[in-house]
Amino acid sequence: MTVAHVLGFPRIGRHRELKFALEAFWRGEIGEAELAAVGSRLRRQHWDWQREAGLDCVAVGDFAWYDQVLSTAALLGALPARFGFDARALTLGQYFELARGNAAQPALEMTKWFDTNYHYLVPELDDHTRFDGGIDWFFDEIDEARAHGHTVKPVLLGPLSFLHLAKARRPGLDKLGFAARVVPAYRRILERLVAQGVAWVQLDEPILGLALDPAWAAAFEPVYRELASCGVKLLLASYFGSAAGHADLLKALPVAGVHLDLVCAPQQLDAFLAGWPQHKVLSAGVIDGRNIWAADLSARLAQLEAAHAQLGGQLWIASSCSLLHCPVDLDAEDALDGELHGWLAFARQKLGEVAVLRRALRHGHAAVAPQLAASDAVARRRRISRRIHNLAVKARVAALTAEDACRASPYPLRATAQRAWLKLPLLPTTTVGSFPQTDGIRAARAACRRGELSEADYTAAMQAEIRKAVQRQEALGLDVLVHGEAERNDMVEYFATQLSGFAFTRFGWVQSYGSRCVKPPILFGDVMRPKAMTVAWSRYAQSLTTKPMKGMLTGPVTLLQWSFVRDDQPREQTCLQLALAIRDEVADLEAAGIRVIQIDEPAFREGLPLHRGEWDAYLEWAGRAFRIASCGVADSTQIHTHMCYSEFNDILPAIAALDADVITLETSRSDMELLDAFGSFAYPNGIGPGVYDIHSPRVPPVVEMLRLIGKALAVLPAERLWINPDCGLKTRSWPEAEAALAHMLQAVRAARAAL
Ligand code: GLN
Ligand code: ZN
Repeated sequence: MTVAHVLGFPRIGRHRELKFALEAFWRGEIGEAELAAVGSRLRRQHWDWQREAGLDCVAVGDFAWYDQVLSTAALLGALPARFGFDARALTLGQYFELARGNAAQPALEMTKWFDTNYHYLVPELDDHTRFDGGIDWFFDEIDEARAHGHTVKPVLLGPLSFLHLAKARRPGLDKLGFAARVVPAYRRILERLVAQGVAWVQLDEPILGLALDPAWAAAFEPVYRELASCGVKLLLASYFGSAAGHADLLKALPVAGVHLDLVCAPQQLDAFLAGWPQHKVLSAGVIDGRNIWAADLSARLAQLEAAHAQLGGQLWIASSCSLLHCPVDLDAEDALDGELHGWLAFARQKLGEVAVLRRALRHGHAAVAPQLAASDAVARRRRISRRIHNLAVKARVAALTAEDACRASPYPLRATAQRAWLKLPLLPTTTVGSFPQTDGIRAARAACRRGELSEADYTAAMQAEIRKAVQRQEALGLDVLVHGEAERNDMVEYFATQLSGFAFTRFGWVQSYGSRCVKPPILFGDVMRPKAMTVAWSRYAQSLTTKPMKGMLTGPVTLLQWSFVRDDQPREQTCLQLALAIRDEVADLEAAGIRVIQIDEPAFREGLPLHRGEWDAYLEWAGRAFRIASCGVADSTQIHTHMCYSEFNDILPAIAALDADVITLETSRSDMELLDAFGSFAYPNGIGPGVYDIHSPRVPPVVEMLRLIGKALAVLPAERLWINPDCGLKTRSWPEAEAALAHMLQAVRAARAAL
């Protein structure tokens, strides 16, 4: 019989209860019992919601005190030996030390969970890694759910994805070679689940969404043959990418079911329906686990029609992936207007959508006629709504020409024009944008929001901060100054609030890592810039100094990437609309005398699709959007861009094609290794590799920065090299920022003298 389920539910809580409890625990304000009670309340709430919505089972094992990958490592017993912990006797305190580090050991590394904004802790593998079993929390939660009368479906990260996501601590260590050791550990877990009375287990293998190395793909058969004989039915879950390349493998695999993400890759369904084994369950992930739009239920049913006709009760209905990437409950939103509210569905609402689809398949569409009618009305309304569709914006995008995405002259000519007025020394110095966001700044912003500080007083307070930042930069002797971004709460929200087409939630939080959450704006309609956004601040800052003041904008790709984006048109279209808004801002800054303008694109790399075959198309439109935003200026106006730490080696041609006059990068943590690629590729324009890590309060000594400058000079000509920190300084204190920058300038003076 058709089953309705979700792959997982957010654990952070409707009002971020888990976040606040964790932080209180870390500060020592509450004890372990109190923290445990919060976790248990949240789990119970989330299971109850799943049952109330009409799902056939509840996901268990999706809860984690910090991260599900770390929890899997702790369950397997595969903890880094450097901590010296006994996995079987692991305490909650030790679990947090693994996640956050302790006095003797740095934390496990953290990295992005596929192409989402969630970060997982990277398991470490070395020659001594064992999988002898660890914590019992997973099993306890299953008992807990059953005690509440739920039908449980345990959820666990699968062995091959676990190994694939881990990091080999020794060069040359074959991660796949651990399969023989990890399989018995999973077998022990599955056998214990059988003893607990579990019928189905969901094993997540998101690496199936990648184009896998043949050796990894080939490992599925033997590994799952071993696991399938434990006496529990396995649902193998893929998500975030098309598994079509592995369709034959998955059809033949001895598992009871396979889950597909039909939101990110709807076209893969056909490859699976052709020759799908009759007895095997196909779980169709048709409700978007990563976005906040209410599903068009009729369209989803149409999408499922052929599969249902063929599979009948073997077709299951699900969220595309875990709902971890959605905010928790739309019902908590009291500030959104009624119409927009009606267009949205958060995690809790998505449970209902999954259940409605299941009901329609089991009992016919008439059984859910009111829900379908309501959903149809929303879909119709979104198609024609004037608040979404702005014909002038669409016409402007349609009229874009090749020249709009291209500077008037090539870089060498522009560089000459820029040198003529900028008159910068060799190895010019600058910073990446923000200066410390002090308590005073935050307090002023909060007071202004509450109406306790007038707009005028707030502006005056921020201008005072800008004055302070300019004076300090002049005193330090920096060459190209910034205003310091005091007035910005966040580099995306600051712009989104000033553009039409965006809306904001009060509680739309999504876990980023541990207790950290983000609240992305909702990009629901055509984007327009009603008026200049940053010009007054930049003009004020420039009025304080004769040094060039760098304007500071967030780029179109990053605005897109860090928002919940409308699903009714290709992302490319939306990105081009954002690009035009930024282009207008660039033009206004230039007209106001701001002739060095930085357009930040820290999220450029993270927009890359999981499948390499789709990279070119993305890089093409994302790059075009950046160039539309940046290319409307005179040759003599200098465009900077900034990107944080990421692998650039494989996309360097696309980075060069952005044609920014200067790119500043985070490179110090990789000891400038990143630059080798820029050197050997012969990156043609100006480049500012970060010479110190801004994430740490540590003030690096002059010699350290001098050494990094030397490394940069070895691969790049001095004429095109800029000197700057890795990123903005908003998380530092002023004394830290000033001390580090003073060292940076000393290092630069020494480097210049040696040229
Ligand atoms: N200009 C921004 C800052 O300095 C850039 C932030 C980022 O790269 N994430 O804060
Ligand atoms: Zn950065």
